[in-house]
Amino acid sequence: MQLQVIDDVLDGRGQYLCGDEVSLGDATLFPTMIFAKHMLPKFGVPVEDALPSKINKWYEGVIQSDDDFKKVYNEIMGGLLKWEDNKRWDNILLAGVRDDEPATIFDKIVAGDIPAAIVKDTDKVLAFKDINPAAPSHVLVIPKDRSGLSSLRKATPDHAEILGLLLVAAGEIANDKSLGFGDGARIVINDGPDGGQEVSHLHVHVLGGRQLMWPPG
Ligand code: 5GP
Repeated sequence: MQLQVIDDVLDGRGQYLCGDEVSLGDATLFPTMIFAKHMLPKFGVPVEDALPSKINKWYEGVIQSDDDFKKVYNEIMGGLLKWEDNKRWDNILLAGVRDDEPATIFDKIVAGDIPAAIVKDTDKVLAFKDINPAAPSHVLVIPKDRSGLSSLRKATPDHAEILGLLLVAAGEIANDKSLGFGDGARIVINDGPDGGQEVSHLHVHVLGGRQLMWPPG
């Protein structure tokens, strides 16, 4: 938004923001642009859509034509690339956690578009009976918003809260005698094709109502 305001007042004449002479405006905006161009794709925002055209042209132009800007660019980019190596982005909330996978049947259940026997409904978690139960009592617990968790292997520290909520809900369900659970249950997450996962939306199976065998098949 602020970038659009700046872009609107640029007349596009000269290689710098205010014409042919470098100004404080160039020096202030340039580092921000380096961050923006590097970071926006990590949040799933296409750079072409996010950065106004005259500012983008100025930015690309000064990197090519002005050695001082090229030097600043190389210094900042060098630091940012080190952040990749040091996994610095992992500590920044939701940086790089994008969910490009198609929606699943579970999104339709969350939206109420297809029916399910719901046993728990909170603002973040939904639990419902499995349509094809593998034990007398079989409940699935899912995050309402998948937010990257198409499988557990996609989990990052940013997901710690929702992962905790899923397990707490699974424990409460396993304790619920009205759902047919006895003295204990099997809490399972199938992960990926080798783990037998079929629906790409993280879900915790809560199975019980009879003595379960070990090891599983
Ligand atoms: P997965 O094999 O991915 O670990 O488990 C997916 C589970 O979702 C299966 O146990 C399957 O029976 C259940 N399931 C698939 N589609 C539906 C549905 O439309 N409604 C309900 N309630 N369960 C479903």
